[in-house]
Amino acid sequence: MATTTARKTSTKSSPVRIAVIGGGPKAAAIAAKAKVLRDLGKANIQVTIFEAEHIGAFWSGRQTGYTDGEQRLCTIAERDVGYPYNSMFGSEVDTAMASNFSWGTFLHGRTPGYEHGYSTWVDAGRKPPRHKHFADYLQWVIDESEASVVYERVTALDKETDGKHWRIDSRKADGSASTHRTRFNAVVVTGPGPANRLAIKPAKGAIVPESRIFNGSSFWSRRNEVLEALDTATKENSYSNNPIVIVGAGGTAAAILSWLVANGARDLPIQMVAGQPTLYTRVDSVFENRLFTDDEQWLTLSSEMRKAFFDRLNRGVVWATVMDHVSSATNFTMVVGRAQTIRVSKSGDIELSVKRDDGVTVGLRPSMLIDASGFNAWWFLSLVQGLPALPAAKSKRAKQRDQWQINMGNGLQLAGQPWDTYPPLHAPMLSSNLGPGFGSLMVLGAMADRVIKAHT
Ligand SMILES: Cc1cc2nc3c(=O)[nH]c(=O)nc-3n(C[C@H](O)[C@H](O)[C@H](O)COP(=O)(O)OP(=O)(O)OC[C@H]3O[C@@H](n4cnc5c(N)ncnc54)[C@H](O)[C@@H]3O)c2cc1C
Repeated sequence: MATTTARKTSTKSSPVRIAVIGGGPKAAAIAAKAKVLRDLGKANIQVTIFEAEHIGAFWSGRQTGYTDGEQRLCTIAERDVGYPYNSMFGSEVDTAMASNFSWGTFLHGRTPGYEHGYSTWVDAGRKPPRHKHFADYLQWVIDESEASVVYERVTALDKETDGKHWRIDSRKADGSASTHRTRFNAVVVTGPGPANRLAIKPAKGAIVPESRIFNGSSFWSRRNEVLEALDTATKENSYSNNPIVIVGAGGTAAAILSWLVANGARDLPIQMVAGQPTLYTRVDSVFENRLFTDDEQWLTLSSEMRKAFFDRLNRGVVWATVMDHVSSATNFTMVVGRAQTIRVSKSGDIELSVKRDDGVTVGLRPSMLIDASGFNAWWFLSLVQGLPALPAAKSKRAKQRDQWQINMGNGLQLAGQPWDTYPPLHAPMLSSNLGPGFGSLMVLGAMADRVIKAHT
């Protein structure tokens, strides 16, 4: 890679050490920005990434994650780790980000497998990258950024007695525990969190038919079992009474539907259980897109308006590119309501109870059930040591979390009590009150700016 030819990093000040939990796009964007700021002598930020599996693990389609790697991003490739290239650190930072870390530079780099990457991409119509190619891009960015990468799963975040530094405990793949000597000035948590799971209640003596029940994550890691289940049900002709049921109508559910349609289920009965009557479509609209980069206008909106915009564009919507694939499903219906419990009878039959929108509770009997009902974005709370217990009642817990989101600081760090007694903990996934795109791939460069700016 071309190194940034400007002032040398100021070595006088001791570095600010930021730990990022998760080696995904947010880690790549923060690590790249830190490298450019160091090279330009603008800030001395050292990034350490803790990654439980491999860089881009949720995108590569290799082990875990929410994809087979073959699906394409919904957002365009130009929304790379530097986008929107209007850095609060100045235009020379944008120039360096573009020349050293952009998607175009990655494709120009003649990395093995991408030798004619740029012309191939342009000739093919500059389509959004496949997830596995995006994972390769992330790996390249992180390599070039010279960030330290610790391939361990973080198990605890504890504050030092000075109240200003984090101590991190983690576990290696072989199960052995580590406590890292480095003390971090800030931690950034990333990732959508683990897939939510509906409660499974087996009858006495029943064996849960695990081979026919999947969630938004296991669906991808157990694709062979999905194919087997499809094959068995086709042979037994059990679909006429027992449809494939998908719970959820967001991006994950749509990606699963898209994969099923492309892998033999196009004409099979598929039911989607969701609190909305249809799959809504999201397109790339200039007016919507503008709000992702117009921080000033965003701040003029009420909290209710911000939430409405965020939900309209992120919840229960399917990008038009994915919609093109799923619309070939010939036997697809929606069941409008709330999925409640999965019951398993003694004979191994699955019944999903759904409280329909009209108040009637119905029982669906799926041949295969995929629970794609969402993720727990607050997953990291269980890592933070010494946090006061959250209220037991679900509604009170939700209220508390809403308040934390409203209190969030401009650096996307949790603020107010009890967070003011901890070193900064940045949680971009929860920052929709401050901007609609810091949690996704929409404005990774602006997200990185905000996190780093809080420490300069
Ligand atoms: C299938 C899918 C497609 C999406 N497509 C788009 C899109 O096209 N455009 C868009 O704007 N948004 C998209 N999103 C939404 C959103 O952008 C991403 O979920 C988000 O950007 C994820 O990036 P991340 O950097 O937060 O973390 P991720 O890429 O989700 O990475 C999290 C990483 O953390 C690691 N990890 C988890 N727990 C630990 C731990 N305790 N210790 C260490 N490591 C840990 C995991 O192994 C993983 O590698 C998509 C989401 C999904 C699920």
